[in-house]
Amino acid sequence: MDFLTEIFSPNQIWGFEVWMNDWFFVLAIGFFIVECLRYAVKKEFTRNFLGDSIANFATLGLFIIILAIVGAAYAGVFLYIYENFRVTDLPLSGWTIICCIVLADLAYYWEHRFLHMNGFGWATHTVHHSSPHFNISVAYRHGPMDWFFPLFFHLPLAILGFHPFIIFLAEIIVQLFQTLLHTEAVKKLPRPIEAIFNTPSHHRVRNTMMPIAQYHSSRSLFCLPVDLSKI
Ligand SMILES: [Zn+2]
Repeated sequence: MDFLTEIFSPNQIWGFEVWMNDWFFVLAIGFFIVECLRYAVKKEFTRNFLGDSIANFATLGLFIIILAIVGAAYAGVFLYIYENFRVTDLPLSGWTIICCIVLADLAYYWEHRFLHMNGFGWATHTVHHSSPHFNISVAYRHGPMDWFFPLFFHLPLAILGFHPFIIFLAEIIVQLFQTLLHTEAVKKLPRPIEAIFNTPSHHRVRNTMMPIAQYHSSRSLFCLPVDLSKI
């Protein structure tokens, strides 16, 4: 439990984020190979599936290039807001990271809802939902502006006093959790888990629904105790 009270340096947090993101991708590739074998056994490994998966990784490649171009400016906005407009000085501790993950998850909910309701948002997010398949490679199917809208939904966290590197770490953790939901290989999990967390079975239902209706049952990390779609 030392992690909760330990004070980290910004560089340590950045290093942890990069390490987690990179190794998660390696694991995702491994899991994707398992999914491919599963489809092969079920005789569902088609040319269409293969082409779609290649397209998914192609969008990821383009997205990484875009991030390389805009990444410094994206981080700069957060650092500027944090340095000049933060209202508290939160320590860079484990507790702060956990609080930030919960708030980043809520920010993701509203961001995702916006992406479905707003024409500009949907113009980029529709790329993710345009695959007829459902596997972990679809999680990496990015629209060209998928980096832009999250900025506005997560900036309030910098004003609250969360260091930008903690915000980026929280964003990555929420995104990686979302990545895990994109699979047909995991059936329904035990009831308590299905009741508390967003799961692959929840996400399968949502990803097959009509775009405008999807946000109504939008979930992020947790199954929210309050139905925010009624707000
Ligand atoms: Zn969506």
